[in-house]
Parts: sequence; C-alpha cells; structure tokens
Amino acid sequence: HDDEVSKAERANRAQEIYGTQPLTIFSKIIDRTIPADIFYEDKKCVAFRDVNPQAPLHFLVIPKTPIPRISEVTEDDKELLGHLLVTASQLAKKEGLDEGYRLVINDGKHGAQSVYHLHIHVIGGRQMGWPPG
Ligand code: ADP
Repeated sequence: HDDEVSKAERANRAQEIYGTQPLTIFSKIIDRTIPADIFYEDKKCVAFRDVNPQAPLHFLVIPKTPIPRISEVTEDDKELLGHLLVTASQLAKKEGLDEGYRLVINDGKHGAQSVYHLHIHVIGGRQMGWPPG
C-alpha cells in the first residue's frame, strides 16, 4: 500500500513539474512495467545495468522523479542530485571498481542524450581514454 501511495505521489509531482513532458522508457523501468536488471533501489533513485554496455561494467543511476535532463535542474533538485552522486560512488565501490571509473551525464543534442530522463552513467572495468568522443 505504501508503495502505491508513493507511486501516486511521484506521478502527481511529475505531472505538476513536467506536465508537458512525455514519460520515457525509464519511468517504465522504475514502475517495473518493462524489465531491467535493477540492482539497487531507495526512496529517491534506482540503479540498473545498461542494456548496451560500453565497458565491462556499465550501469545507470536515475532519479525516480522524471527530470528530463541536467540542463533543466533547479536549486530545488540540489539534495536529489547530491544523493544520485553519492549513490553512484557507493555502488561503484560495491561493484568493485577499485581502479577508478567514469561518470557521465549526457545533455541534449550535442551531449548525445537519447533518453530524456536524467541518468548518471557509471562506466568502468577498463582503461578510459580522454578526450571522450
Ligand atoms: P546514449 O544512448 O547516446 O548513450 P543517453 O545518455 O541518453 O544517450 O543514454 C541512454 C542509455 O540508456 C544508453 O546507454 C542505453 O543503452 C541505455 N538504455 C536504453 N534503454 C534501456 C533499457 N531498456 N534498459 C537499460 N538501459 C537502457
């Protein structure tokens, strides 16, 4: 029952803030209407394996609230954004990425963002290059 309530609250908040934005496939992953390898969840976010991994380890940390992109965040999102980063760091450690890793947030066209639900890529398990493509 609690789950249903928070789901409804989330939907309402999303509707208020992002009423004009269509929901993406990531909202369906959060709601379990489409399958994904979700290996972490808390009140504010979920983490799941990327379906098209770019390295031996590649997962995404996403807020349950469907913020479309990093360029649209506000002061009100500060705590949530901090939580996403701390969670990404903790999960990277849990997954054994002792030699380091890459965090990526793609924004918009030039950033090559394809899913308009904010997500932090955590990519590791091999040597990265710089500059990124
Ligand atoms: P790009 O697709 O250019 O990497 P994004 O930064 O928007 O742009 O990343 C979206 C990521 O979501 C991609 O890495 C993609 O493989 C991943 N993805 C898309 N659909 C799913 C899904 N159903 N399950 C897991 N990962 C997914």
